[in-house]
Amino acid sequence: MTKIEIIIKNCNKCQRCVKTCPFGYISFINESLVIDENCTYCSACVSVCKKKAILITRKEEKKDFSGYRGVLVFGEQREGKVADVVYELVGKGRELADKVKEDLYCVLVGNGMEDSAYELITYGVDKLYLFNDTSLAKFKEDTYTTLITDLVEEIKPSIFLIGATAIGRSLAPRIAVRLKTGLTADCTELDIDAEKKLLVQTRPAFGGNVMATIICPNHRPQMATVRYKVMRKAEKKPNPEGEIVRKNVNQTKIRDRTKIVDFFRNNDGANITGAEIIVAGGKGLGQSDGFTLMKELADALGGSVGASRAAVDEGWIPYANQVGLSGKTVRPKLYIACGISGAVQHLAGMQTSDVIVAINKDPEAPIFNVSEFGIVGDIYKVVPELIMELKKKTSAKNTRGI
Ligand SMILES: Cc1cc2nc3c(=O)[nH]c(=O)nc-3n(C[C@H](O)[C@H](O)[C@H](O)COP(=O)(O)OP(=O)(O)OC[C@H]3O[C@@H](n4cnc5c(N)ncnc54)[C@H](O)[C@@H]3O)c2cc1C
Repeated sequence: MTKIEIIIKNCNKCQRCVKTCPFGYISFINESLVIDENCTYCSACVSVCKKKAILITRKEEKKDFSGYRGVLVFGEQREGKVADVVYELVGKGRELADKVKEDLYCVLVGNGMEDSAYELITYGVDKLYLFNDTSLAKFKEDTYTTLITDLVEEIKPSIFLIGATAIGRSLAPRIAVRLKTGLTADCTELDIDAEKKLLVQTRPAFGGNVMATIICPNHRPQMATVRYKVMRKAEKKPNPEGEIVRKNVNQTKIRDRTKIVDFFRNNDGANITGAEIIVAGGKGLGQSDGFTLMKELADALGGSVGASRAAVDEGWIPYANQVGLSGKTVRPKLYIACGISGAVQHLAGMQTSDVIVAINKDPEAPIFNVSEFGIVGDIYKVVPELIMELKKKTSAKNTRGI
């Protein structure tokens, strides 16, 4: 319970608090200080009041969370296909649930999702809650939020994991607000303090310069969105025993404020998260044309083109291709970084790649610290030679009929 009080005898009517309140919730009415009931207890007024006329007291009630059990995973789907991140969350969710000897649940919302529901069970889900209805084929914030919030209130999971995808990032905060719980966005690591049943959530903070560890001790469920490609995918279980629980869709409860007219797929860079080979260009390319060279190398290797933020900021390539903290996380078999210095924010999105090759004219560039192979040289000399060698190899293979 949090309380805000005005100590009238201390107030000298300086109005500093009125000017400081970021929400405009403090005013003087008839010479008296009044604080609106919507006060968020941010404490900004307390810090500026030299006379100590405003007092905030916070008393944490001891809450009983014994009724909250298990780990729930949101089974995101698009056009009937379960998103890859879901299999990673199921893998991590299983590990967390096993550590506290509780169940792993999954909620799947869509249309024609029966087969996917059975498939998810084979990855170790104990109970899969299925909302299957024609009205649910496409993601709609209002509908999905209502259905999932109601389910969470019914089954009371201790932990709720959602992919940090466009859909997940839109859905998770809405559900967290309705449940009045916390949400840690964009986690890159998750663990559990088994004794206290606390989810230990790690995510980059302060521009990726530190890794913050966040816990949610006072509210349930403990909610986190998790980046794609940072957790290992679940493995199929030899004898899956999970069950599917079919849920009814109560249309009367759903307040739907959006109408989907059409969907357009933006294919620019859309394939980099799943790509096995990525050729990424940075500011060192010096000009937008440098990406034509990146594309040529990527095509010769059968890969996709990525970029650093500096290259995106220059307008040389769309944001969809950006790799890093504020871009996409990738985990290809081969990542070739061309003219990229290796800032922590870039590394955050690609350092778990299997093999990293860096091409940079500066031998001291930090990218070499995370690279298996490094070429010190000018991109415009090294890359054309690589392309030429690759083309020679391909034509030799073709001539030999391999
Ligand atoms: C909150 C926040 C989020 C961020 N998110 C991201 C993110 O998601 N992704 C990201 O990439 N960055 C991100 N950044 C920016 C990041 O800090 C760096 O500024 C950015 O990664 C630098 O891009 P770069 O390596 O291409 O450019 P630079 O740092 O300018 O490096 C260019 C490199 O090219 C080399 N070079 C120059 N010419 C040549 C040549 N002809 N041949 C070979 N090498 C050459 C240079 O030696 C240098 O190493 C973020 C920053 C912040 C604060």
